[in-house]
Amino acid sequence: MDIINNKKINSKTENSLPDNFLIDGFGRQITYLRISLTDRCNLRCVYCMPEDGVKLIEHNEMLSYEEILKFVNILASHGVNKIRITGGEPLVRKGMINFIKNLSSISGIKDISMTTNGILLDKYAQDLYNAGLKRINISLDSLNNETFSKITRGGNLDAVLKGISAAKAAGFHPIKINTVLIRGTNDNELMNFISFAIENELNLRFIEYMPIGQNISRTITTKELTEKIKAEYKDFESNKISDSSVSKEYYFSNNKNNKAVIGFISPLSEHFCNDCNRLRLTASGKLRLCLFYDEEYDIKKILNNSVNNEDIYNYLLNLLQKKRQTHLFNNKRGANNCSGHINIIEDNTYMNKIGG
Ligand code: SAM
Ligand code: SF4
Repeated sequence: MDIINNKKINSKTENSLPDNFLIDGFGRQITYLRISLTDRCNLRCVYCMPEDGVKLIEHNEMLSYEEILKFVNILASHGVNKIRITGGEPLVRKGMINFIKNLSSISGIKDISMTTNGILLDKYAQDLYNAGLKRINISLDSLNNETFSKITRGGNLDAVLKGISAAKAAGFHPIKINTVLIRGTNDNELMNFISFAIENELNLRFIEYMPIGQNISRTITTKELTEKIKAEYKDFESNKISDSSVSKEYYFSNNKNNKAVIGFISPLSEHFCNDCNRLRLTASGKLRLCLFYDEEYDIKKILNNSVNNEDIYNYLLNLLQKKRQTHLFNNKRGANNCSGHINIIEDNTYMNKIGG
């Protein structure tokens, strides 16, 4: 079956949406924009960047805050209501507190969240909260100083733990911890992470390692992890009423008063393309219709050359007809067979550019 030319998959949205929304060729409405604020980072995680760093974009090539705000304003008037700020490391870009303040005043934007490595969170948590950021995801791949330093190539675990405490004290709720387990590096910490989540009543989410940029190990699938946890915790149960379409959530049924939630994000083994409602904007102003395809469209140029917002909307609407129905990672590159191939992410594309 030719899945690219397959007919529309989300027919329930057809006929029921106002004309001026952003709908792709498969009937999916775009409501969510992920913005990579910068490609710079204060860490060098092994699965995200090469050791000697990547060629960074020049400052004058970066999308300015004014350009981002203009773009979000246009999208918000066409149904986008949710923004995630990511990077590189978003907290290293100067002026980001004021930017978040301006972002949160855009009419129609109801939900602003951020993914951060947490290193600078101790310093910025309260200002971020006061600026209008209400949800935060902190990436944490090891609870062991040495392993943390090895994965992040020099990062300080204590700084992140302080950041988590500062985020709690500032009022962020829920605080989500993103963890990528890498076979042979930190997968021996699975149960330590579960205890950490229970003790601190955290929302811990395991993200399947995506073989992007460089191939360092075979992905540990959600199935493998849940089976291991169930073997230790007999009351580890799927939360059927979870409203997250991206993360499969579990809780401990014998410990109902504990608010710990364990989530699993399985972009490879159980992709969620059918419900995809998102676009990604890179720090240099390129729009990506899908994380897993290299195709990018120059929004900086469009923003600066278009006469009016209506032209930009029409451009986007046309572009959306190119959004793929699904990624083909498992067909061609595979969670367990990471040989590079054309058309999907090139080997010189690193996650710091796209924002995850
Ligand atoms: N610097 C911030 C951070 O680390 O949270 C934001 C950017 S980072 C690219 C966003 C998320 O992508 C992080 O949670 C990181 O663990 C995840 N990530 C990066 N490379 C990945 C990969 N190859 N597979 C799975 N997740 C990845
Ligand atoms: Fe930096 Fe985040 Fe990539 Fe780690 S995962 S190198 S913290 S952008």
